[in-house]
Amino acid sequence: MPAETVSVTGWGRTAPTTARLIRPRSYEEAVAAVRDCGARGGIPRGLGRAYGDAAQNAGGAVLDMTGLDRVHAIDADAGTVLCDAGVSLHRLMQVLLPLGWFVPVTPGTRYVTVGGAIGADIHGKNHHASGSFSRHVLSLELLTADGGVHGVSRGTPLFDATTGGMGLTGVILTATIQLQPVETSLMSVDTERAADLDDLMARLTATDHHYRYSVAWIDLLARGAATGRAVLTRGDHAPLEALPEGTRARRDPLAFRPSQLPAAPAVPEGLLTRRTVGLFNELWFRRAPRARAGELQKISTFFHPLDGVPHWNRIYGRSGFVQYQFVVGHGQEEALRRIVHRISERRCPSFLAVLKRFGEADPGWLSFPAPGWTLALDIPAALPGLDAFLDELDEEVAGAGGRVYLAKDARLRPDLLAAMYPRLDDFRALRAELDPRGVFVSDLARRLTL
Ligand SMILES: Cc1cc2nc3c(=O)[nH]c(=O)nc-3n(C[C@H](O)[C@H](O)[C@H](O)COP(=O)(O)OP(=O)(O)OC[C@H]3O[C@@H](n4cnc5c(N)ncnc54)[C@H](O)[C@@H]3O)c2cc1C
Repeated sequence: MPAETVSVTGWGRTAPTTARLIRPRSYEEAVAAVRDCGARGGIPRGLGRAYGDAAQNAGGAVLDMTGLDRVHAIDADAGTVLCDAGVSLHRLMQVLLPLGWFVPVTPGTRYVTVGGAIGADIHGKNHHASGSFSRHVLSLELLTADGGVHGVSRGTPLFDATTGGMGLTGVILTATIQLQPVETSLMSVDTERAADLDDLMARLTATDHHYRYSVAWIDLLARGAATGRAVLTRGDHAPLEALPEGTRARRDPLAFRPSQLPAAPAVPEGLLTRRTVGLFNELWFRRAPRARAGELQKISTFFHPLDGVPHWNRIYGRSGFVQYQFVVGHGQEEALRRIVHRISERRCPSFLAVLKRFGEADPGWLSFPAPGWTLALDIPAALPGLDAFLDELDEEVAGAGGRVYLAKDARLRPDLLAAMYPRLDDFRALRAELDPRGVFVSDLARRLTL
């Protein structure tokens, strides 16, 4: 099977390492690739949208699974799909929306694979209502270190280790997913502004349960009384009757035609200053309506605004950027306030950050979401003193019983991991039994001894 030696990074482009990239085109080739990984092992990779070092493997093999991307069967009555793990959510939307079905969970980009969605047990704006991706996975097929392919059902230890297991239990080959019925491909969206963090948390707490999807875009450069000011966008799939009669949208209610802009240029590092980013955040806040109800938006506008700009991650220049995401539980609002104030005082030039309330957790042993508050923000990696600053935030998060998201991480200190992920020992024990030779390994796994 052809393999090339290439430099591999995550979406944040912060920690490049070199690996042999292998792209299996059949299950047999995938089995052969796992058997021939070599001494430095291998790790499956999807579309490389994990920000950190989860889908790379210095000096070893990286199995690019996007060559296995067939949709095998759709049950349009039951709303289930059986597909290869290399299929992207973008492709699933193209195929499923015309049939009146939508993926059960989508992250902020639809350019992720089903394998990546399960491997990181991703969450979306509907986590408070629908949980994470794994909740909707009915079964999967896993290629393990011995070269065997196993059907894995819900409720088994192997399922719970694999959902959120960052590719370390094996290569997911296929999955059967329960879908979400929709009448249209448009979203009905309510927008409102929150004056500060307390106002924002109060609004989310009081009314999130009225919405299937909810997220707040928060300005972390605002200070003083405006600290944590935000724009909330919440909504649901628009029913057919919400589309005006006689319009194109009404005639073709399930159309899915996302638009694309030219690729984003790399901005010279000096241009992403606090001033320019602050100005952008200010403009964006002022432009948002104080309150607006029932606006019809495309799926791509509501869920994936950044997907319209290919390679937008290049705007951060050569040294890339860190995406920092953590969750702290309900009752830990004081910790959240402290962290938001610290970030805002530190004046990180961070474009809009995202705050969301998570609902019930799913059973994945390394699954990230837990009931509480999650904040995600981008920070240019070249910011002086960033590592020490984020180490302090990690300690604050761990001290509050929270955790950081491994799919976004490339820098967490290993000693904090066990406090953040209480099922870590179970995960390690299962891996030791399933994969005694350590065939599956990634830079993330080595760094954190997963
Ligand atoms: C703009 C943007 C917005 C995002 N928004 C969100 C969000 O809202 N919520 C959220 O949860 N995440 C979000 N993410 C992160 C992203 O959803 C996850 O990192 C996801 O895992 C990426 O999928 P991928 O196919 O690109 O996988 P990769 O990044 O290639 O791999 C991610 C992990 O999955 C494993 N993996 C990949 N394929 C397989 C397979 N076939 N079998 C087993 N393991 C596999 C890899 O080993 C790795 O550990 C966002 C990322 C971007 C760039």
